[in-house]
Amino acid sequence: MKLPKNLLAEMITHSLEQDPEECCGLLLGNGDEVSRLIRVQNVHEDRVSRFSMAPLDLLEAEREADRRGEIFVAIYHSHTYSQGYPSDTDIRNAVQSGWTDPYYVLVSLVEKTRPVVRAYRISSAGDVAEQFISVLGAGGYTSGTTRPRVNE
Ligand SMILES: [Zn+2]
Repeated sequence: MKLPKNLLAEMITHSLEQDPEECCGLLLGNGDEVSRLIRVQNVHEDRVSRFSMAPLDLLEAEREADRRGEIFVAIYHSHTYSQGYPSDTDIRNAVQSGWTDPYYVLVSLVEKTRPVVRAYRISSAGDVAEQFISVLGAGGYTSGTTRPRVNE
């Protein structure tokens, strides 16, 4: 997927602002290219280790995306105490919701000063495959091999 550098930074900022709770949001655009980020409120009762997107935020985002001719390229959320890999719950939720088209982007804050951002696809069978993130406006990096810094 293609992600502008400023939106990568915005996603990391959102994650740090919500820490120690998990944040969540949407990356919108066309095809596999992201052009807009929408923060979504995490309404799960256990926000430190789970997330659940506010239904009204989601509905509004869907309407606006339709109006602008955009799709949900990716869903992102943060892991404040665990690695940037979809948890069993994340995989189960993806399969059950039928949301297997969007990328799943994880921001791990295990090292607060060095957030790690990774993207995945989760199939309807629950298979997880890591995807390449091409950062626009910067040299592309293979997720996991280069760690984006927040204050560069
Ligand atoms: Zn998760």
